[in-house]
Amino acid sequence: MFSSIIDSHCHLDFPKFSKDRDEAISRAREAGVEAMINSGIDFKTNLSSLRLAEQYDFIYATAGLSPSVASTKDDERIGEVLKQLSELGEKVIGIGEAGLDYYHYKELGQRQKQKETFEKVIEIADGFGKPLIIHGRDAEDECFEMSKNLETVVFHCYGGSLETMEKIADAGHYISIPTLVCFSEHHQEIAKSVPQELMIIETDSPYLSPRKGRNEPAYLADSLEVIAKLRGITAEEVATITTKNTRKAFKI
Ligand SMILES: [Zn+2]
Repeated sequence: MFSSIIDSHCHLDFPKFSKDRDEAISRAREAGVEAMINSGIDFKTNLSSLRLAEQYDFIYATAGLSPSVASTKDDERIGEVLKQLSELGEKVIGIGEAGLDYYHYKELGQRQKQKETFEKVIEIADGFGKPLIIHGRDAEDECFEMSKNLETVVFHCYGGSLETMEKIADAGHYISIPTLVCFSEHHQEIAKSVPQELMIIETDSPYLSPRKGRNEPAYLADSLEVIAKLRGITAEEVATITTKNTRKAFKI
């Protein structure tokens, strides 16, 4: 167990945790996870994320509009979420996840829709002066170009190129390393070279588990040993560094 780690991105409000949400949260705390940042992706989860944060003082909420919502919902639905974000902005610690997903959406029209929507989400984050949490898949560079002038940007579950990562780092934005680092060589490359002061960690629970089955915040500990070995420091140092960075990025 570590003295303190923060899961900078998870979805504890998702149905995968319906049966054992409280237990999963207790297991996280026992594993040394002192805080968890729960990310909304659409109208419903923005509200459930906030509700969870109201329930636990060590859980923080962000509210977002995922690229899949932008690609698959009609203008009215998207407008509803945008309006919600501009109302919730003061209550959450960040805006996102939002961004571009060119891995799942290949059609030009869908991508165009994502870009238009993301542009509006960026404006909202900027207006509130809150960190923007980016979901960028096969579109990391474009996400960076669109958002680089914001004060604080967090690239959640970063899996882009090392070249783009360098640009992100030069702009002073954060790179979040997921528990995928336990088995993905590309994420290990990223974990090795990300500047120390911009490195944060996450599980993206219930996704991307380093163990069999569902991921949960308690498994964040698995990635510390891996990152430590890659960087030639101790796991406890990884914990201290990433906790400090996450607190700074999200002002928590
Ligand atoms: Zn997520």
